[in-house]
Amino acid sequence: MGKALIIGAGGVASVCIHKCCQNSDVFEEICIASRTKSKCDALKAKLDGGKTKISTAQVNADNVEELIALINSFKPDVVINLALPYQDLTIMDACLATKVNYVDTANYEPLDTAKFEYSWQWAYRERFEKAGITALLGSGFDPGVTGVFSAYAMKHQFDEINYIDILDCNAGDHGYPFATNFNPEINIREVSAKGSYIEDGKWVETEPMEIKRVYNFPEIGEKDMYLLHHEELESLALNIKGIKRIRFFMTFGQSYLTHLKCLENVGMTSIEPIDFEGHKIVPLQFLKAVLPDPASLGPRTVGKTNIGCIFIGKKDGKEKTYYLYNVCDHQECYKEVGSQAISYTTGVPAMIGAAMLLTGKWNKPGVHNIEEFDPDPFMDALNTFGLPWKESFNPDLVE
Ligand code: NDP
Repeated sequence: MGKALIIGAGGVASVCIHKCCQNSDVFEEICIASRTKSKCDALKAKLDGGKTKISTAQVNADNVEELIALINSFKPDVVINLALPYQDLTIMDACLATKVNYVDTANYEPLDTAKFEYSWQWAYRERFEKAGITALLGSGFDPGVTGVFSAYAMKHQFDEINYIDILDCNAGDHGYPFATNFNPEINIREVSAKGSYIEDGKWVETEPMEIKRVYNFPEIGEKDMYLLHHEELESLALNIKGIKRIRFFMTFGQSYLTHLKCLENVGMTSIEPIDFEGHKIVPLQFLKAVLPDPASLGPRTVGKTNIGCIFIGKKDGKEKTYYLYNVCDHQECYKEVGSQAISYTTGVPAMIGAAMLLTGKWNKPGVHNIEEFDPDPFMDALNTFGLPWKESFNPDLVE
């Protein structure tokens, strides 16, 4: 049916590529392009021989001209951006210049400021609309499936949704004293930032990790979780009818937090360049280089993730509660595609989002967040491609 150019060859890209190959009727041809071509070639060697035709290329995704040349030579129907948030705008520029659809899993962040928000990407709305192409923003798990869950709850369960709590629990254990489950630089920037949530149309800011709750997660049990700022709060507060408050919580174990505090205290999480033996280095980038590569955690991680949304709202004038979630087992993911569940829960929705555009099930020129599309075909595909969802009408609530 179509051709996809996948940019990036890290943990998430690896899962997405496996899943494209499992969906070869839709993904007839893919090109894996990244900064380090040997990683693309290794993925091709692992997956070659199936129905999906695979090629590889080297590309610096910070360079719009290089991206345009690659797109013009491969001629994809969609570009799936699985590099880092810093590359979102250059890849969107190249898609605009070549009139190709765009999908990503994380919103743009400038390299020199740990700040993420949609304004930079939403500024492309009119240009994408005029070019007749679609940019699908945030097609991972959170953001991603959490937005699809919200659209599904709105469509099938509520007349209005007043409260959403997004709960992200990773109960996986990799046996290291400290490691991150996806790109360490992006992960540490996210968790060391101030927390925030939206209440009555306004952002309320908290100190990092200031708000803690304990939640009894289905199939996992009780875990400590902390309120974080997260990008989908911004779009869901606009796109879901009736929102009064929306919050995001993520679980962290005490050992992770103690290590993080210590690294922060000694300045290792800073993104301010420092002089080191005549070179400028960014402490956080140096830290990334010494931490375990998230892609290497797969074989050693045991346990499950549970990510989902608790909705409180009204149906036919009555208050109603609804919980939608997915439980994913790290070792099952590893057996299937050689990656742990964090990469898996992001790579599967990235493939599904691209498939929605390739099949024409989703077709809305412009720049759109995932909850703006019909959730039903995506929810079906989650069940087909390894992320089955569960629902509860009587969940524990978060205080
Ligand atoms: P990795 O660090 O494992 O992979 C990133 C890949 O991008 C690497 O192959 C890297 O190349 C490549 N890359 C980086 N910069 C460039 C560049 N300038 N040009 C070309 N290629 C480049 O990250 P992950 O796979 O863990 O994460 C990928 C994305 O997924 C991130 O944006 C992350 O924020 C997002 N994510 C989203 C989640 C969600 O639920 N929505 C959850 C988890 C992650 P090289 O190999 O040379 O370093």
